[in-house]
Amino acid sequence: MATLRDILTADERVREGDPALWEKLDRDRVRCYACGHCCPIPEGQPGVCKVRFNHGGTLYVPYGYVAGVQCDPIEKKPFFHAHPGALAYSFGMLGCDLHCSYCQNWVTSQALRDPNALSAPLEADPDLLVKDALAQGAKVVVSTYNEPLITSEWAVAVFRQARKAGLLTAFVSNGNGTPQVLEYLHPWIDLYKVDLKSFDDHHYRQLGGRLQPILDTIRSLHHIGVWLEIVTLLIPGFNDGDDELRNLTTFLSDVSPDIPWHVTAFHQDYKMTSPADTRPEDLLRAAAIGREAGLRYIYAGNLPGRVKDLENTHCHQCGEMLVRRYGYLIEKYKLTPEGNCPACHTPLPGRWSKKFDGQIAAAQLVKILSQP
Ligand code: SF4
Repeated sequence: MATLRDILTADERVREGDPALWEKLDRDRVRCYACGHCCPIPEGQPGVCKVRFNHGGTLYVPYGYVAGVQCDPIEKKPFFHAHPGALAYSFGMLGCDLHCSYCQNWVTSQALRDPNALSAPLEADPDLLVKDALAQGAKVVVSTYNEPLITSEWAVAVFRQARKAGLLTAFVSNGNGTPQVLEYLHPWIDLYKVDLKSFDDHHYRQLGGRLQPILDTIRSLHHIGVWLEIVTLLIPGFNDGDDELRNLTTFLSDVSPDIPWHVTAFHQDYKMTSPADTRPEDLLRAAAIGREAGLRYIYAGNLPGRVKDLENTHCHQCGEMLVRRYGYLIEKYKLTPEGNCPACHTPLPGRWSKKFDGQIAAAQLVKILSQP
């Protein structure tokens, strides 16, 4: 019987990697630059991610399939400073360059490492995906669910079609990038969410990565003008120490105090079943540390209605409430068409629509949120 690896390496699900993202080495080896591992890959072997592989001295990469497609509110990605209320057409492939024991998308991300992660690829075409996105009323097309950097060629193929159709494009990523992959993506990407999982290199090594490439990616994305939001899943006993949070938020604030920081609540998942779930007071403490570090836009996620004012957006100048939220639901929107505060005219950093058109998923969200 064919294994998942056999299925994924069949001709119709791979293609030669873009020349910008790999180079030939001696003895038929190749080096991949799609993520911060920069794997040197011997002939016949895959890289750390298991989905990009060397065949005959050429790098082959995933193409032509999705493992999942779903329309979500953009607030779920989460982007809070980019077209509030928009519908985000989200697609993912299989595999990841990290192996976080608490991954909430482990069924797709760990499909090639963990026999319990049973996901099947479905044939897909960029043009048809974008037609589907338009038919559903999406404004943004998002590569997510697995780590999109390791499947960048496929994301760009979809994003090219999305741009032609007038849609925006986004990555929801661990941020383990390289200068090469960011240069490759830059013309095609509007919004980027980075999961900054810790500020301790030792912790990152436990997850299978290093801290430095993520910090470099955050600096570079801000520098090249891609709209950037950061998420930190707060895990009790893992990354929630005051010193670590102070260092993390000081770094972000030094890059720019205008970068939104989402500090979100952990719940037990996958192999991480021992720490207790994050409490509202843990999020409030982290937010206070971030505010002290100078960050202007801090949001507490995953505990709707239990984090005081930390789901809402305020003008950093005069304090006016600009967007009121409950979970992913937009309850009030007061920005001017230019994206300014209506009270003092200070611009709110982000990407704004001329007007708030309501939230397409509102009816469905209300139903979900009202369930016990
Ligand atoms: S994407 Fe990253 S992990 Fe995968 S082969 Fe390339 S450098 Fe290695």
